[in-house]
Amino acid sequence: MLVKELMNEEPLIVSLDTTLKEAVSKMADARSSCLLVVSERKPVGIVTERDVTTLFAEVLAGQGDLSRKVQEVMTTEPVCVTEDSLFKDALMLSRSRKLRHLPVLDELDLLVGLVTQTNLVDAYAGLVDKQDELESSVEQLRLLSLEDPLLRIGNRRAMEVDLAFTEADAIRHHKTYAVALLDIDFFKGFNDTYGHQTGDDALRVVAKTIKQTVRTSDRVFRYGGEEILILMPEANEQSAFRCAERVRQAVENLNIPHAASPLEVLTLSGGVASEEEGRWVALVEKSDKALYKSKGSGRNKITTG
Ligand code: GH3
Ligand code: MG
Ligand code: MG
Repeated sequence: MLVKELMNEEPLIVSLDTTLKEAVSKMADARSSCLLVVSERKPVGIVTERDVTTLFAEVLAGQGDLSRKVQEVMTTEPVCVTEDSLFKDALMLSRSRKLRHLPVLDELDLLVGLVTQTNLVDAYAGLVDKQDELESSVEQLRLLSLEDPLLRIGNRRAMEVDLAFTEADAIRHHKTYAVALLDIDFFKGFNDTYGHQTGDDALRVVAKTIKQTVRTSDRVFRYGGEEILILMPEANEQSAFRCAERVRQAVENLNIPHAASPLEVLTLSGGVASEEEGRWVALVEKSDKALYKSKGSGRNKITTG
């Protein structure tokens, strides 16, 4: 952001021979905290509220004289910034030199505006707000990039990240972890019978049921089309099998009619595998082989690999 974007373009200006009386009443009328003294469109001095306070203290003490000219009390050679300088530089200058008012010049050194400390604070607050907005949209994008939009569970990318993390953790702590790969039975026939939209709805219900059935420490991902993977970072083969069995039963209990399946309701088959200190890719392959066995032996069942 540039200084010209935040400056006040109509600062209060007076000439060198203006009387203090006139100057003070101008400041009061405009409710301005400072007055720029200009000669040939160049700022040659500045009179601030502080100067006015000092002046009035003198008047009250019987020493001040309001018929004097501003040039007698003004601060000369005010520190200026150019309109194309960066907001950040103006802020630094204002802080380091403790300046509340910075006259702004164009490329010919003529006065074009004034930047006050309030302008700088407002601009800074605006930037902080923008930064907050940016951070929250980055976070939203990050979440979206890891979530499957249809099933509202982790997508494959999230799955790979989580599996890699769990694998490293298992190796470090000599722990066992497990996965269950689940696949809906005869889903192509389901779509063909009830339509793709009903297929989507069924998939959503199944994903929701799975999420509600597993433990909170387990993670659920869309592995592909109608295949869902449960990652169980704390499980061994037996506990993973029990979890997958509970899920299989819960989906069967939904009683979603499936006329194209010999089982008559929507069901799923699964393969479970567990691993200690092994690579997750091999673990998922093992669960896939176990799933294949479930498919080959009647479906609606879980097999351990
Ligand atoms: P199997 O019991 O052997 O798994 O049979 P299947 O019909 O489920 O297996 P197949 O792999 O032949 O078909 C999978 C079907 O899942 C085909 C595809 O249209 C459907 N499918 C995959 N993703 C989606 C989706 O997001 N929405 C819907 N409605 N259908 C999907
Ligand atoms: Mg499949
Ligand atoms: Mg299937």
